Amino acid sequence: MDCNSLVCFLLKSSQSINKFMKTKMIAIVFLAAELAIASSAEKLSAPNHGRIIDAVDPRAEFLISSDQKIEIRFLDAAGKAIAPTAQVVTVTMGDRTKPTTLLFIRVGDTLVSDRAIPAGKELPVVVKIQNGPDAKPVYAKFNLNLATCPTCSNAEYACACDH
Ligand SMILES: [Zn+2]
Repeated sequence: MDCNSLVCFLLKSSQSINKFMKTKMIAIVFLAAELAIASSAEKLSAPNHGRIIDAVDPRAEFLISSDQKIEIRFLDAAGKAIAPTAQVVTVTMGDRTKPTTLLFIRVGDTLVSDRAIPAGKELPVVVKIQNGPDAKPVYAKFNLNLATCPTCSNAEYACACDH
Protein backbone atom coordinates (compact mmCIF):
# COMPACT_ATOMS: atom_id res chain seq x y z
CA MET A 1 0.00 0.00 0.00
CA ASP A 2 1.30 3.34 -1.03
CA CYS A 3 1.42 5.44 2.06
CA ASN A 4 1.93 8.98 1.00
CA SER A 5 -1.43 10.25 1.99
CA LEU A 6 -2.08 11.84 5.35
CA VAL A 7 -4.99 9.47 5.97
CA CYS A 8 -2.73 6.49 5.49
CA PHE A 9 -0.12 7.96 7.83
CA LEU A 10 -2.73 8.62 10.51
CA LEU A 11 -4.13 5.13 10.10
CA LYS A 12 -0.71 3.59 10.50
CA SER A 13 0.15 5.62 13.56
CA SER A 14 -3.18 4.89 15.18
CA GLN A 15 -2.55 1.19 14.64
CA SER A 16 0.81 1.39 16.32
CA ILE A 17 -0.71 3.40 19.17
CA ASN A 18 -3.37 0.73 19.49
CA LYS A 19 -0.76 -1.97 19.65
CA PHE A 20 1.16 0.00 22.26
CA MET A 21 -2.02 0.57 24.27
CA LYS A 22 -2.93 -3.09 24.10
CA THR A 23 0.48 -4.10 25.41
CA LYS A 24 0.11 -1.55 28.17
CA MET A 25 -3.41 -2.72 28.98
CA ILE A 26 -2.30 -6.32 29.24
CA ALA A 27 0.54 -5.26 31.54
CA ILE A 28 -1.90 -3.29 33.68
CA VAL A 29 -4.34 -6.19 33.87
CA PHE A 30 -1.55 -8.53 34.96
CA LEU A 31 -0.33 -6.01 37.51
CA ALA A 32 -3.86 -5.58 38.87
CA ALA A 33 -4.29 -9.34 39.12
CA GLU A 34 -0.99 -9.64 40.97
CA LEU A 35 -1.95 -6.86 43.34
CA ALA A 36 -5.31 -8.53 44.00
CA ILE A 37 -3.56 -11.79 44.83
CA ALA A 38 -1.00 -9.99 47.01
CA SER A 39 -3.62 -8.07 48.93
CA SER A 40 -5.82 -11.12 49.43
CA ALA A 41 -2.80 -12.90 50.89
CA GLU A 42 -2.09 -9.93 53.14
CA LYS A 43 -5.68 -9.28 54.05
CA LEU A 44 -6.28 -12.01 56.51
CA SER A 45 -9.49 -11.19 58.26
CA ALA A 46 -9.06 -11.08 62.00
CA PRO A 47 -11.17 -13.77 63.67
CA ASN A 48 -11.79 -11.58 66.72
CA HIS A 49 -11.91 -8.21 64.93
CA GLY A 50 -8.45 -7.29 66.17
CA ARG A 51 -5.49 -5.86 64.30
CA ILE A 52 -3.48 -8.24 62.15
CA ILE A 53 0.28 -8.00 62.64
CA ASP A 54 1.72 -9.53 59.48
CA ALA A 55 5.36 -8.62 60.06
CA VAL A 56 5.71 -11.88 61.99
CA ASP A 57 5.36 -15.44 60.82
CA PRO A 58 2.92 -16.83 61.85
CA ARG A 59 0.85 -13.69 61.80
CA ALA A 60 -0.61 -12.38 65.00
CA GLU A 61 -3.90 -10.78 65.95
CA PHE A 62 -3.73 -7.93 68.45
CA LEU A 63 -6.93 -7.29 70.36
CA ILE A 64 -8.02 -5.17 73.32
CA SER A 65 -10.37 -7.32 75.38
CA SER A 66 -13.45 -6.06 77.21
CA ASP A 67 -11.41 -5.91 80.44
CA GLN A 68 -8.87 -3.62 78.74
CA LYS A 69 -6.16 -6.20 78.46
CA ILE A 70 -4.22 -7.01 75.32
CA GLU A 71 -4.76 -10.41 73.75
CA ILE A 72 -2.38 -11.80 71.15
CA ARG A 73 -3.29 -14.83 69.07
CA PHE A 74 -1.19 -16.41 66.36
CA LEU A 75 -3.01 -17.33 63.19
CA ASP A 76 -2.44 -19.91 60.49
CA ALA A 77 -2.80 -19.08 56.78
CA ALA A 78 -6.56 -19.57 56.98
CA GLY A 79 -6.87 -17.18 59.92
CA LYS A 80 -7.40 -19.85 62.57
CA ALA A 81 -5.78 -19.40 65.96
CA ILE A 82 -2.83 -21.70 66.54
CA ALA A 83 -1.10 -22.44 69.81
CA PRO A 84 1.84 -20.17 70.58
CA THR A 85 5.14 -22.01 70.54
CA ALA A 86 8.08 -20.16 72.02
CA GLN A 87 6.98 -16.62 71.10
CA VAL A 88 7.81 -13.86 73.52
CA VAL A 89 5.66 -10.74 73.29
CA THR A 90 6.24 -7.42 75.02
CA VAL A 91 4.14 -4.30 74.54
CA THR A 92 5.43 -0.85 75.38
CA MET A 93 2.83 1.87 75.23
CA GLY A 94 1.67 5.24 76.40
CA ASP A 95 3.62 8.32 77.42
CA ARG A 96 7.01 8.13 75.70
CA THR A 97 8.77 9.66 78.70
CA LYS A 98 7.12 7.21 81.08
CA PRO A 99 6.06 4.20 78.99
CA THR A 100 4.14 1.25 80.37
CA THR A 101 5.53 -2.19 79.62
CA LEU A 102 3.14 -5.10 79.49
CA LEU A 103 4.25 -8.70 79.67
CA PHE A 104 2.16 -11.65 78.53
CA ILE A 105 0.86 -14.78 80.14
CA ARG A 106 -0.32 -17.74 78.11
CA VAL A 107 -3.99 -18.60 78.67
CA GLY A 108 -4.98 -21.48 76.41
CA ASP A 109 -3.91 -20.48 72.90
CA THR A 110 -3.95 -16.78 73.76
CA LEU A 111 -1.23 -14.56 75.18
CA VAL A 112 -2.86 -12.13 77.62
CA SER A 113 -1.21 -9.01 79.03
CA ASP A 114 -0.37 -9.17 82.72
CA ARG A 115 -2.41 -6.02 83.35
CA ALA A 116 -4.81 -3.57 81.75
CA ILE A 117 -3.66 -0.97 79.26
CA PRO A 118 -3.12 2.57 80.56
CA ALA A 119 -5.94 5.04 79.92
CA GLY A 120 -5.54 7.54 77.12
CA LYS A 121 -6.54 8.38 73.59
CA GLU A 122 -4.57 7.05 70.65
CA LEU A 123 -1.63 5.99 72.77
CA PRO A 124 1.41 4.96 70.78
CA VAL A 125 1.95 1.21 70.97
CA VAL A 126 5.04 -0.83 70.19
CA VAL A 127 4.46 -4.57 69.99
CA LYS A 128 7.67 -6.58 70.13
CA ILE A 129 7.40 -10.20 69.06
CA GLN A 130 10.21 -12.73 69.16
CA ASN A 131 9.81 -16.27 67.92
CA GLY A 132 11.91 -17.40 70.87
CA PRO A 133 13.80 -15.76 73.73
CA ASP A 134 16.93 -15.29 71.60
CA ALA A 135 15.22 -14.66 68.23
CA LYS A 136 15.51 -11.36 66.39
CA PRO A 137 12.60 -9.18 67.49
CA VAL A 138 9.94 -7.92 65.09
CA TYR A 139 8.25 -4.65 65.97
CA ALA A 140 4.77 -3.40 65.09
CA LYS A 141 4.10 0.26 65.87
CA PHE A 142 0.76 2.05 65.70
CA ASN A 143 -1.50 4.36 67.62
CA LEU A 144 -4.18 2.67 69.65
CA ASN A 145 -7.31 4.42 68.46
CA LEU A 146 -10.14 2.76 70.35
CA ALA A 147 -12.94 4.65 68.62
CA THR A 148 -15.27 2.52 66.54
CA CYS A 149 -14.92 2.73 62.77
CA PRO A 150 -18.32 3.78 61.43
CA THR A 151 -17.88 1.70 58.29
CA CYS A 152 -16.61 -1.72 59.36
CA SER A 153 -17.52 -1.36 63.07
CA ASN A 154 -14.14 -2.67 64.19
CA ALA A 155 -12.16 -0.43 66.51
CA GLU A 156 -10.13 2.06 64.46
CA TYR A 157 -6.83 0.42 65.47
CA ALA A 158 -8.18 -2.73 63.82
CA CYS A 159 -10.06 -1.07 60.96
CA ALA A 160 -10.59 -3.61 58.21
CA CYS A 161 -12.04 -1.33 55.57
CA ASP A 162 -9.21 1.20 55.03
CA HIS A 163 -11.85 3.92 55.10
ZN1 LIG B 1 -13.13 0.45 59.11
